[in-house]
Amino acid sequence: MTQSANCIDQLQRLPTSTAGSLPKPAWLAEPEKLWSEWRVTGDDLQQAKYDALLVSLQEQTAAGLDIVSDGEQTRQHFVTTFIEHLNGVDFNQRQTVKIRNRYDASVPSVVDAVSRSKAVFVEDAQFLRRHTDRVIKWALPGPMTMVDTLYDAHYKSREKLAWEFATILNQEAKELAAAGVDIIQFDEPAFNVFFDEVHDWGMAALERACEGLADMGCQTAVHICYGYGIKANTDWKQTLGSEWRQYEEVFPKLQASCLDIISLESQNSRVPMDLMELIRGKKVMVGAIDVATDTIETPEQVADTLRKALQFVDADKLYPSTNCGMTPLSRAVARGKLAALTAGAALVRRELA
Ligand SMILES: [Zn+2]
Repeated sequence: MTQSANCIDQLQRLPTSTAGSLPKPAWLAEPEKLWSEWRVTGDDLQQAKYDALLVSLQEQTAAGLDIVSDGEQTRQHFVTTFIEHLNGVDFNQRQTVKIRNRYDASVPSVVDAVSRSKAVFVEDAQFLRRHTDRVIKWALPGPMTMVDTLYDAHYKSREKLAWEFATILNQEAKELAAAGVDIIQFDEPAFNVFFDEVHDWGMAALERACEGLADMGCQTAVHICYGYGIKANTDWKQTLGSEWRQYEEVFPKLQASCLDIISLESQNSRVPMDLMELIRGKKVMVGAIDVATDTIETPEQVADTLRKALQFVDADKLYPSTNCGMTPLSRAVARGKLAALTAGAALVRRELA
C-alpha cells in the first residue's frame, strides 16, 4: 500500500491538524447540528460521503493543515457508526443510559458476543489515501468510551466488554495502518470522567487496541477533551470550578503508556497549562481553537496559547490543533478557525526559527 510521501518524521515543526470532525455539506446532512441524519439515501449515500470527503480534504489542504483527515464525513456519530458494523449489538433494543455521568441518551444494546466480520472504515481510508500525499490521521472511538455509549445486556461487565472492543479496534487499526493511515487517533473523552476505571483497565485496554501499530510505522494518538460545545457539556464545565485538573488523574499513566501523541483541550479552557509537564516526552496536540464558540480566534490568540504550551512541551513535540471536533459549526466559521490555526502556528514557527 502507498505510504504518504510526506511521512510523519518529515513533518515541519508545529504540524497542524484538527482533533476531529469538520462540518458536513448541507446536501449530505443537516448542517450545524451534532449527529444529524443523512439527507441522501440508498446507493447514492456512499458517493455523497466520498464527495463530501473530497470537499473536506480540499478545505483542510487549502487551510494549510499538515496532517489531514476525512473530516469524519463518513460517519454520523464518532462511536455508534463504528458499532453499527459489529455483530452482537442490537440497534432496535434501545435503552436510556447516562453518558459520561452527564446526559441521558438512547443507546443500542449489547445482546451477544461482539465481533467484527468485516472492516468498517478501511475502504474510506483507502479513498482518502488515494487523494492526498499528506500525513493522514484516522479517528476511532476508544474502548472505554465505546462501553460508555452502550447498554450491556450480555457481558454485564464494563471491563470485559472493553477488552472485546480493544481486540476489535486493534483489528480495524491494523488494517487502517496497512491502508496507509499514518496516525490512528482513539477518542477517549471517558478518560476525563472515570478515573478509577482508567487505572484498573481503561489504559490497558487502550494499549491493547494499539498493539503492533508501531511495528507498521503507524503512530497512535489519544484524544481526551471536555466534549463538543453542546449544553450538557457547557453546563458540566460550569461545575468544574476555576481549575480543571481532570488531566492530572490520567496523564501520569499516559506518560508511561505506548501512546505517541496526546490530544487535549487548551483554548478558552480552565486546564492549567503546567499539567502538560506530566506528559513531557510525548507529542502533544494542543487545542488552540475553541469549538464551543462561533468567534473565530485571531492568529495572535492561537500563537499565544502555543507559546504558553511551549513552556511545558518541547518544540519538536508540539502539534497545534483544535480542542475537539467542529461538526456543529458552520462551514464558514470552521474554515476561519482552520485558517487561524495555521496562521497562528506559522507565527510561532517563525519565532522558533
Ligand atoms: Zn473531543
